[in-house]
Amino acid sequence: MFPFSYTRVSDTREAVDAGRRGGRYIAGGTTLVDLMRETVERPESLVDISGLPLREVRAIEGGGLRIGALVTMAEAAAHPTVRALFPVISQSLELSASAQLRNMATIGGNIMQRTRCTYFRDVTADCNKREPGSGCAAREGHNRAHAILGTSDACVATHPSDVAVAFAALEATVHLLGPDGERRLPFAGFLLRPGNTPNREQAVRQGELITAIEIPALPRPLKSGYLKVRDRQSYEFALTSAAVALHVRGGVIREAKVAAGGVGTVPWKLPAVERHLVGERPSAALWAAAAERAADGARPLRHNRFKPELLKRTVERQLRVVGGTK
Ligand code: SF4
Repeated sequence: MFPFSYTRVSDTREAVDAGRRGGRYIAGGTTLVDLMRETVERPESLVDISGLPLREVRAIEGGGLRIGALVTMAEAAAHPTVRALFPVISQSLELSASAQLRNMATIGGNIMQRTRCTYFRDVTADCNKREPGSGCAAREGHNRAHAILGTSDACVATHPSDVAVAFAALEATVHLLGPDGERRLPFAGFLLRPGNTPNREQAVRQGELITAIEIPALPRPLKSGYLKVRDRQSYEFALTSAAVALHVRGGVIREAKVAAGGVGTVPWKLPAVERHLVGERPSAALWAAAAERAADGARPLRHNRFKPELLKRTVERQLRVVGGTK
């Protein structure tokens, strides 16, 4: 282990001030403590924010939803308002991690979590994300679980979060508080693709603290759900996943929100699939035709050439489940 300081704060301003001075925020600790134990992360100063008043879940005007950053995964998944408004969020959380981890991990921490690429966690391996400029062992290594969308020469790691896929589909907004005040970021701009700087994963500035995630209101009735495909049925990351929300009125799809997980360096929004659906009548043929667009632009690696087809089938199946047509 290595030495570090620990401060517990009880007020958001105090937290931001400590963050501005270089402190790393910690709440559930389910990612950061692991990484510290493996010496992948070596923060000099930890700022414990678990006592801050950021634990509220509530509906917002028009049928949107606000989830405080320190709400645990288990609390959010079980919350009646979340379950009523956006089942896709509850389902994505219930299919994540283990019950013990969901009791500890927070929503803010979940979207800040780092990749599960095994080379990232092995300090003897080359990894541009952990050590910029060192190379990427996954490119020629074991890359079955890695990304096929949004990759760069520098990094091909997937983003591991399930609920982030639901947030991407629903076009959530991340609320931040920093030394310069409050800021809102569209979810699409919050998580960064690797490019030449895979070590930079979120568009969060020094000292900024996530305070909440907001889901905008969508027209009702809205059906939504999450499908996760993985090697075993529990405590496993996605090979592919699909978050789908559909608003159908008068027999016609008026709104479609679709994103995929397990395939992108960030949760992967599927606008071509959405465009294919809107204005059409639900049918098995429509789901299949729309899902054909899910893997547009995919660049498979040596061990994950199965992913584009698996992704299309995952999206088609979840469109069928949510859309309700055989
Ligand atoms: Fe590191 Fe990314 Fe390559 Fe994994 S895929 S070894 S995280 S650079």
